[in-house]
Formats: sequence, C-alpha cells, structure tokens
Amino acid sequence: MSQLNETHDPSLQSWVDSANQPGNGFPIQNLPFGVFREKGGSGAFRIGVAIGDKVLDLSALADRQPWNGAASEALDACRSGRLNGLMALGQAHWSALRLALSRALRVGSALRPVLEPLLLERNAVEHNLPAHIGDYTDFYISVHHATSVGKQFRPDNPLLPNYKWVPIGYHGRASTIGVSGQAFPRPVGQMRPAAEGSPPQFGPCRRLDYELELGVFIGQGNPQGQRINIEDAESHIFGLCILNDWSARDVQAWEYQPLGPFLAKNFASTISPWVVTLEALAPFREALKRPDGDPQPLPYLSSPANTESGAFNVQLEVLLSTRESRAKGLEPARLSSSNFRDAYWSIAQLVTHHTVNGCKLQPGDLFGTGTLSGPEEGEQASLLELTGNGQTPITLPWGEQRGFLEDHDEVILRAHCSKPGYPTISLGECSGTVLPAV
Ligand code: MN
Repeated sequence: MSQLNETHDPSLQSWVDSANQPGNGFPIQNLPFGVFREKGGSGAFRIGVAIGDKVLDLSALADRQPWNGAASEALDACRSGRLNGLMALGQAHWSALRLALSRALRVGSALRPVLEPLLLERNAVEHNLPAHIGDYTDFYISVHHATSVGKQFRPDNPLLPNYKWVPIGYHGRASTIGVSGQAFPRPVGQMRPAAEGSPPQFGPCRRLDYELELGVFIGQGNPQGQRINIEDAESHIFGLCILNDWSARDVQAWEYQPLGPFLAKNFASTISPWVVTLEALAPFREALKRPDGDPQPLPYLSSPANTESGAFNVQLEVLLSTRESRAKGLEPARLSSSNFRDAYWSIAQLVTHHTVNGCKLQPGDLFGTGTLSGPEEGEQASLLELTGNGQTPITLPWGEQRGFLEDHDEVILRAHCSKPGYPTISLGECSGTVLPAV
C-alpha cells in the first residue's frame, strides 16, 4: 500500500502557474502519465506527464538525463510511445520518478530551465492509448449495479449466491479499446425473436448503453502459475483511468446465456488518456466496508490493510450531449453521479482473485471495475438502470427523451478526487460518440 510522502504535501506549489489554480485537477500532487503528440501531427506518440494545463514531454526529458539511479532508469523507460516499459519496472521505480518529477516541478527547482522548454499546451495535443493492452478483463464490483440489474430479471432473487464470495468478471476484448474521443458505428447483431418460435431479429442494436467504470492498469505482472497475494496486490497496479464499457443490451439479452457477454460488449470500449498512479490517490484511501451480516471474504481475499484502506474516494459522473444540444450550443446534461468507494470489492482483491489459479498478468493489462452505480437515486451508472431498461425514459434539460443512446449522442465520463485541505486530483475525461450503423 503506498503511504503518504513529501509528494502529497498539500502545500506544494509548482512553477507551472496553472497547476496551482484551485480545482484545476492537475496540480503537482497528481502527475498522471499519458501518451501524446501535437494535435493533427503525424509524428510518433511520446510519453508525457500532465501538470496544470501543460504536458511535460518525458521522452525529450530523458535525452537531458537530469537524474541518476531509479528515477533515471524509470525516465529511460519513457523513451517510448507506450507506458508498458515503465509499468514493467515496478513500484520502486514509479515512486522514484514521481518524487524526481515533483521536486523538479516545484517552485524554486534548479531544473526549471531544463523542463520549461519541454512543456506543451495540454489542449494542443492528441492522445493514443497509454499502453499496449494485451488482455482486458471486466469485473462487476458494484453490488448496487448487480442488484438493480438482477432485479430486472429476477425480482425476488436479484443477487446470485456467488456475488459476495467471488469477484465476478469476464474476459473482454482488448483490440477495440480506444482513447477518449473515440467514435464508433452502432453495432449490428442478433436480438431476441419478436415472437416465440420465430427466428431472432437482426439489425442495428436498438438498446445501446454506456457503463461508467474505472480502468485499472496492471504494472508488473506475475509468472504463470504464481499467484499474487493480497498483501502484494497493489504493488502490481500502476494506476487508474476512466472506462466506458459500451453495451448493446438487446444483443446481450439474446446471447449472454450460458457463457456471458460476447458481441454485446466487444465492439468498442473507451478509456481516458491520463493514468493516475495509485500513489497519487493515496490521500483518498478509505476503509473497504461490507454491510453488517455479510460474509467476510475468504482468507486469500482478505488482509488488514485491504480492510482498513482498500477503497478509494473517487467521485464519478456521466454527462450526455446530443446532436440537438450541440446545435443549440447547450452544455451536456448530467445523467448521474456516484462514488468508487461504494464498490463491494477492492482493486487489490481483483488482482489477487485473477491470479489465484495461476493466471498470468502482464504490464499494460487492463481491468474494468464494472458499472459503478451507487446506493442512492441518481447514482445509477448506466441507462439500463436509469431508465428501467428503457421503460421510463429520462427527459433531458432541452426536452429530448432517452431510453437508450441514439446516433450522434456523445457520452462524457468524468472522475476526480476531492476533500477539504487537499488539491483536487482529476482523472480527466472519457468521451465517446455513437455513429450510425454501417
Ligand atoms: Mn462492464
């Protein structure tokens, strides 16, 4: 578990002025990693770190060799268009690089003349996926989501008996994961027959949905056959991003039994460009709570540290803009807000469970948390829940209604951490747009 250190001092100020603006989201205490190039450019993508409204080019900084030791080795791993090399080095190297960057970006740093020419405007860059994602697994860790979805299918027995014992997941598809700004055609597929005995319907999906999730990037992996203990699990996690697990509900309803989601989920998934390290999130740790009367997890999924501080206070929200709202120049409408701390399983438990059978994880593997719905009204993190499977459409502030997504709808997911006396830590934004079926 990463502890608080000098990089978390809330009074630290950067010589990058915009990083000191209250609420800017990218203060010197954040320092998330991403992959970028000049907007519209054709050159290679490089690794950068976000600071205020700027990006620091770490590939270029590596050429200047400002440090030695672990920080220098970590910086050398940033001479690449992907974060996998840095992820593979492990936590001691990530920490050393964070500390070196924090000191170099602070007011009064002697390295300012070296770094300042390597800054770009954040709004003048475009992004690629932060890492090569070899494998992608999506979990189901919100008991509130699992219960409300289960209610639609099994009103008297919404939660299946395994839920409180085993972190449920399925293997997803890495090849169609894109970075924020992704646009994709509405998926086409098979749906339930209109009448019993008739063949399935076929055509563009009519019940297209989003799922508000967080993504968990694996850092150092494990050899096949060697499980990762719960005590070590977090040291294998590089950081978090925002994830939209787009879902074709009508395709899902027809195909999901008996083997789970398949084509309903693998046509597109979108992630935010910046990966916020677990170390940056340390000030927002909280106890992982289970309701009184629930079973305790099996010993391999339990540790004192996981119980005391395995959850994170990350505020989440979903916004929607439509072709009509954009034409009218209106702000996107907020559909829901929720908090990651209400999840039933911790990210450490996911890593440990995923490897308990000897399954091998590799640097850059991505986990999705599953839809992060909360316990209250207005915290439903998918349209499936928000509209009761489309039965009770929501009315948007400009008058349009939505049961599910329509063509040209843009879904914007945002996440940030805030608490009194500490600068806001933003995870940025994850947006994606539905195009007409082809
Ligand atoms: Mn999902």
